[in-house]
Amino acid sequence: MTNDTTITPDMLTVPRKVPDYGGKTNIVGLTRDALKAALVEMGTPEKQVKMRLGQIWQWVYQWGVRDFHLMTNLSKAYRAELDEAFVIAIPELVSKQVSEDGTRKYLVRIAGGHEVEIVYIPEETRGTLCISSQVGCTLTCSFCHTGTQKLVRNLTAGEIIGQVMLARDDLDEWPAPGVSTADNGPRLLSNVVLMGMGEPLYNFNNVRDAMKIAMDGEGIALSRRRITLSTSGIVPEIAKAADEIGCLLAVSFHATTDEVRNTLVPINKKYNIETLLAALREYPRLSNSERITFEYVMIKGVNDSEEDARRLVSLIKGIPAKINLIPFNEWPGSGYERSHWKQIKKFADIVFDAGYASPIRKPRGEDIMAACGQLKSATERERKSKRQIEAEVGLGS
Ligand code: SAH
Ligand code: SF4
Repeated sequence: MTNDTTITPDMLTVPRKVPDYGGKTNIVGLTRDALKAALVEMGTPEKQVKMRLGQIWQWVYQWGVRDFHLMTNLSKAYRAELDEAFVIAIPELVSKQVSEDGTRKYLVRIAGGHEVEIVYIPEETRGTLCISSQVGCTLTCSFCHTGTQKLVRNLTAGEIIGQVMLARDDLDEWPAPGVSTADNGPRLLSNVVLMGMGEPLYNFNNVRDAMKIAMDGEGIALSRRRITLSTSGIVPEIAKAADEIGCLLAVSFHATTDEVRNTLVPINKKYNIETLLAALREYPRLSNSERITFEYVMIKGVNDSEEDARRLVSLIKGIPAKINLIPFNEWPGSGYERSHWKQIKKFADIVFDAGYASPIRKPRGEDIMAACGQLKSATERERKSKRQIEAEVGLGS
């Protein structure tokens, strides 16, 4: 067992700067209960609050409306009162890049001036939005670009669900009031994966609240089976995720011995492979979900041998699983190389022959640095000194 400080040697977790909306409260990201309480506090009569809550919720999360004055089933006076007390705010879009393959990458700014990236991946039968849960990440996985970013801050629930809302804005996918979502054909944004920046289980409550909003049937209404949370293996939080979120789970497994996993995914020093697998065996039962996705990045000469493949299938025996093989995405200074295609194929075949689906993830959006593990705030790409960062967030002397 090691403590966190050895895993995050040179990290600066910045305090969250509360956005200033001129004394108003942002309703995006409030749970139903929290919004209800806020409406009562604002003076909404107790007898009406349930109905008002439903109406406002629908405007915001089903029709994508950001202006109280457009909420036409509320009285003008009540709309004005809402406007006095609240705002409907999502992160600010800074830039958008579209890859040759249709992948879209958005850079957004959140309170305090920090930035996160969001990636939209269109496929034939679905469209997946990859969202972030933190600015940067405190877990310094050696092959991950995000892990080299020193500045880390948890996103609020509003900033997390706000990423989904922002993508729907860009895709122009809010149905007109009165039109059923089902009438619009297949959804452009049909799946959400928490696979962007950050470790979602280190920002548990905000991720949970945001995903509850995404799943709410009167709003964005994504099924829990279309949301996948990816974790590096924060064991104590895994059962909690099953209980309180219930979405699908992906695990960044990446190695078949503790020795190798300790270097690739250093949190393994705290929760080793055996402990992790024990937690994973419980997950589907607790959350009533389907298979667990094992993510396995293919790095040349490090974790890609045939012996690794055989060890992997014996380790996960008994767990309903799918193995997602991710060819390593190179980034400047990583010191690792992508496995040869032939080696990846061999690995995939061994896993497949053992009875597990073993898709090889096609790198998407490489021309715009939108692939897995390449996300990093643009301003952070050049490694900054701790002092520079402290000065920027106002912590320096
Ligand atoms: N922190 C969470 C979720 C974000 S990472 C986690 O680690 O699971 C999303 C996935 O991309 C993880 O499986 C991660 O290990 C993988 N990844 C990170 N860097 C990568 C790289 N350079 N090439 C390929 N995959 C990478
Ligand atoms: Fe963090 Fe995941 Fe990257 Fe590891 S792989 S540093 S947990 S974002």
